[in-house]
Amino acid sequence: MKIDPICRMEVDEASALTTEADGATVYFCSEGCKDRFLTDEGARLTRTAYDLVIIGGGPAGLTAAVYAATLKMDVLLITRDLGGQAIDSRKIENYMGFDFITGPELVEKFRDQLLHSHYVEHLISEVERIEAIDGGFAITTAEIERFTSRTILLATGMTRRRLGVEGEEQLQRRGIFYGNVQDLAFVQDKAVVVIGGGNSALQMVESLDRVAAAIALISDTELTGDATIVGRVRRQARVTLYEGHKVTAFHGDDGLRGITMRRIGTNEVRELPAEGAFIAIGFKPNTGLVMELVETNDRGEIRIGGDCATTQPGIFAAGDCTDAFGKRIIIASGEGAKAALAARQHILQLRREAKARR
Ligand SMILES: Cc1cc2nc3c(=O)[nH]c(=O)nc-3n(C[C@H](O)[C@H](O)[C@H](O)COP(=O)(O)OP(=O)(O)OC[C@H]3O[C@@H](n4cnc5c(N)ncnc54)[C@H](O)[C@@H]3O)c2cc1C
Repeated sequence: MKIDPICRMEVDEASALTTEADGATVYFCSEGCKDRFLTDEGARLTRTAYDLVIIGGGPAGLTAAVYAATLKMDVLLITRDLGGQAIDSRKIENYMGFDFITGPELVEKFRDQLLHSHYVEHLISEVERIEAIDGGFAITTAEIERFTSRTILLATGMTRRRLGVEGEEQLQRRGIFYGNVQDLAFVQDKAVVVIGGGNSALQMVESLDRVAAAIALISDTELTGDATIVGRVRRQARVTLYEGHKVTAFHGDDGLRGITMRRIGTNEVRELPAEGAFIAIGFKPNTGLVMELVETNDRGEIRIGGDCATTQPGIFAAGDCTDAFGKRIIIASGEGAKAALAARQHILQLRREAKARR
């Protein structure tokens, strides 16, 4: 893998666009970044002030970015990765236009739209700080770059919750995983447990069916996923189901060897051997960046209005980081489009007010 010097995206050496500079080959994710490299003579981002900065490159942020491009907005997308949670979905059966598509395939299509159909300026980085300043906001990345923007569209999604039990920290990535499909290879022909009862856990069980030697599904409630997948998993012959059980400890030194669980409401404790554990017990919204700036609900989700406006004028939010009902790809995408439209309205309004003052 090579790194695009303009946006810092990892690119595949074999398929990336290239140019020669100072006797070396330089690799790019898109014509847009290559053009910027050629015109900027190798500078990274030369611009630092925008009308709109979108933070987060999941379905909400990517749709917002492409939408903003179609609206000819002056926009920069900053994200840790392209795809967000959607890339972990093995089987998407509820996105319009596709009877069935995998997460990586759908994200590839989003990525094509962002980089090739409509080039949107983008930077692969983590935003560490957002401050309100005169006339807008200042955004600082992990590389201490500072951008300013008149508006912000927050689409930072959610991250997975931890169980918080004995052995979980020590055995991270030494048998304990949080449901990324990339981690399946670590448990080939091994006994595994999947912890959780929602769609993510159930999808993980389905993905493990041809990989693991045996699968135990442990949920503290009845299975809560969509009826079709619950039905399929209940019929899966190699799955042993433990509903109403709580995992209380993970065991092992160099790698996971087993778990202890307790039947809820009883003292009945049981140990299971396992060399892999996938924890899929839900998510928490990534809203720490704006906790001081906008109102959130008791789950930490950003409160938004019908137009995705937050309680702070100029900050819009979309997707799983908000209190919008329904955590789904199509909903996050729709909210992203709506937020981009609303941010444009806000910027036009600011321009009208500035003109009236002159
Ligand atoms: C295993 C799994 C399977 C799923 N299957 C389905 C399915 O079949 N159908 C369906 O409709 N939905 C499914 N979902 C849910 C769906 O993926 C989410 O609802 C959707 O991805 C939410 O999109 P989002 O853009 O709001 O957030 P996310 O997808 O969470 O994206 C957030 C983005 O923000 C970035 N980010 C966060 N903080 C920062 C920061 N400080 N600086 C820079 N970048 C940041 C992240 O890196 C990421 O790119 C599934 C989820 C999982 C985990």
